[in-house]
Amino acid sequence: MTSFEPSFEPSAIVVPATHFIAGRANTIANGAMEIRRPSDGQVYAELPQADQNLVDQAVEDAWHAFKSSDWATCSPRDRARVMRRWADLIEADANTLAPLESIGSTRPISSALQWDVPFCAEGIRYFAEYADKCGGEVVPTRRDQLGMTITEPYGVVAAIAPWNFPLVMASWKIAPALAAGNAVVLKPSELTPFSVVRLAELAIAAGMPPGIFNIVQGDGRVGDALCRHPLISKVTFTGSTRTGAAIMAACAETGTKPVTLELGGKSPQLVFDDIADIDKVARRVALAISTNAGQVCVAGSRLIVQKSIANQMIDHIAAAFDELVVGPTWQANSTLSPIISGKELQRIDSVVRATVEQGGEVVTGGRCLAADSGGSFYQPTILHNVDMSMTGVRDEIFGPVLCVQTFEDEEEALQLAAHPSYGLSAGVHTADLSRAMRLVRGLEAGTVWVNRYGRSWDFALPTGGFKQSGIGKDLGRYAYEANLRTKTVLIDF
Ligand code: NAD
Repeated sequence: MTSFEPSFEPSAIVVPATHFIAGRANTIANGAMEIRRPSDGQVYAELPQADQNLVDQAVEDAWHAFKSSDWATCSPRDRARVMRRWADLIEADANTLAPLESIGSTRPISSALQWDVPFCAEGIRYFAEYADKCGGEVVPTRRDQLGMTITEPYGVVAAIAPWNFPLVMASWKIAPALAAGNAVVLKPSELTPFSVVRLAELAIAAGMPPGIFNIVQGDGRVGDALCRHPLISKVTFTGSTRTGAAIMAACAETGTKPVTLELGGKSPQLVFDDIADIDKVARRVALAISTNAGQVCVAGSRLIVQKSIANQMIDHIAAAFDELVVGPTWQANSTLSPIISGKELQRIDSVVRATVEQGGEVVTGGRCLAADSGGSFYQPTILHNVDMSMTGVRDEIFGPVLCVQTFEDEEEALQLAAHPSYGLSAGVHTADLSRAMRLVRGLEAGTVWVNRYGRSWDFALPTGGFKQSGIGKDLGRYAYEANLRTKTVLIDF
């Protein structure tokens, strides 16, 4: 990547607008969908919508590959070697893959190069390393018996991904399933469907048997058909809580099939007045809601700040928002992402308006941005004087909107942080370690960050929500083990 100029010309990008089945691109369609770039609203490709026959074909081909290739039966180290080679090819392909990721998504090209592509590759490498390190165990039984558990892949896993980080979210679903020896049929989001096709091409180049990793394109109907297919043994999903519930119902009606669900959130960031550096913490808080324009499951969308420093914090956060650069994803200096679609932009604006009608006050932002490119952008927004009865505080906005509530003491902070339905993540900023640990215990969230907010490159840390934010975990050992089923063996001597 030495001489690569990150900015790119979108019309120069060749988009693989295809399914990928049994090792080959496939354009069979039951109609086509126009896919628009959020940065300027232009149609840049047509997506073939899969029909039931194509879903059947993809799942049957995956099942055939699972049964007849050596993916599930080879030495696990050989499987890991293919996946490591795949990760190497992904990194080497960054100059193709990053623009492909960026062009039709909300990911600025600089972020796609520095984070999305390498994070995807490293995640695949992380799970590859599990292939020969996690298995069953011998368990204590009578001396004239041998009891043990052995782990086996499920067969064909359906993976359904959201649009907000197309490569990374897909890799979190497919990498543990493949490393465990399963075949996979992935349905990416219809809003960002193309970069994963390049991922599948590179899997074949790395030596993965055709049919082990397949992609079917289309909207929620295709996802539903996958969930209901009798040859699908497990479903792993990331997306909204509403769709997660529909998927769970489909899996119950046609299985029962196990599901992993990574769903929505409304995460609090608690800031106490003992922090050493207000500007530093304010920048963290601002980044936690402005990254990807707040279109992040773990976006820190509720600031819960001690009253004595609330005004200062708000001023510093607003200043950090002012530094964001609006521009299309293909410009290297753009730092404020577009909103994924015009429809979503209007939805975000209507939630802000509703919250204001309910008594909330806009401190900064609160409007759609008229960008030169003509795309869908929303001003980073701070809403004050709000409470949990208001739409903007209660509902996941999935945009750059921060709701601010203030507290007097720790007990009140914990009360305000509680959400009636979500429990995905939370952040605590304090210099008092004992207080931080009390809050770690008290907060009902799948992840609690202390004096930081957001993920690191530690793939060993699992991620997943409590309550309506999900079931099961992505990343970490749990994610790998969730793609295996356990067989019990008891042998009489
Ligand atoms: P979404 O639920 O609208 O769609 C997600 C995927 O499900 C898409 O591929 C869609 O086509 C498919 N789908 C829709 N209806 C379906 C059905 N009935 N059966 C099967 N599949 C169906 O979500 P989205 O708008 O793409 O993503 C945003 C949401 O994802 C937010 O709520 C966000 O919080 C959540 N998310 C969660 C995590 C996490 O790790 N917890 C990570 C990223 C995003």
